[in-house]
Amino acid sequence: MAMIIWSIVIFSLSEISITAGYHRLYSHRSFKTNPIVEFLLLFCASLASQRSALRWSFEHRLHHAFVDTDRDPYSIKRGFWFAHFSWMFEDPKEIDKKMVPDLLKNKLVMFQDKHENKCMYMPNLAITALLGYFLNDFIGAVVIALGLRLFFNHHCTFFINSLAHTVGSKPFSKKISAVNNYLISFPTFGEGFHNFHHAFPRDYRNGIRWWDFDPTKWLIRGLNYFGLATELKSTSNKVMEKRLLSEMDHTKIHHAETPEKSYQEEASYEEPSKEEQVTT
Ligand SMILES: [Zn+2]
Ligand SMILES: [Zn+2]
Repeated sequence: MAMIIWSIVIFSLSEISITAGYHRLYSHRSFKTNPIVEFLLLFCASLASQRSALRWSFEHRLHHAFVDTDRDPYSIKRGFWFAHFSWMFEDPKEIDKKMVPDLLKNKLVMFQDKHENKCMYMPNLAITALLGYFLNDFIGAVVIALGLRLFFNHHCTFFINSLAHTVGSKPFSKKISAVNNYLISFPTFGEGFHNFHHAFPRDYRNGIRWWDFDPTKWLIRGLNYFGLATELKSTSNKVMEKRLLSEMDHTKIHHAETPEKSYQEEASYEEPSKEEQVTT
């Protein structure tokens, strides 16, 4: 039982470091933080073994810039399983320096990229050995805390590229395949609101209503509370409402009994008060 609990703890730390670090900090620059927090995010994200932050962010920026085209590295147009994981069997694209100029200047990111294999293997081996030793169960540590935990780390992230581009709603952009899927937010620490995220990628939130399950947003907000994260980017309600209205299905509005009410419900988002607002 202790092995399972520790595996869940390591899974959670590494997964939220992928979503807060690799995704919202490095890929989208939705907030700023200090080198100590960056180091911790990079260290824990390395446990998820999803390659370096530089490569992950480069591929993710391509995904946003060219979504649903051949230049999208994990395009859903090439099939569910291609977007989920088989895209990784293609030759990796050479990193285009023009896509990641900010990250090339980041010493921690570049160190992790240069020593990618060591950064992935060493903490994983150390944690597995420590758990095996202290819980006196080396086989359990290798099977559960390493194998099974990494399986979940990988597939939870993969579901954002596959399922969050397949099953769900598209309130913010009907033109793209990205969907809002509440269920995916649970194993991915808030990344299921993918239609909103593609519409407003720099927003540090993915779930914008206060009750939306988005622990990554809560972590960033918590860091901000303690002065460890600054310049949180968020989209103003006015911009979101405008987008929602422009994307609404007008044939449905025509037949709806109370269109004003349904609009108000959709537009009841959190006020992005003190934070810097993005005017996309
Ligand atoms: Zn996407
Ligand atoms: Zn993104």
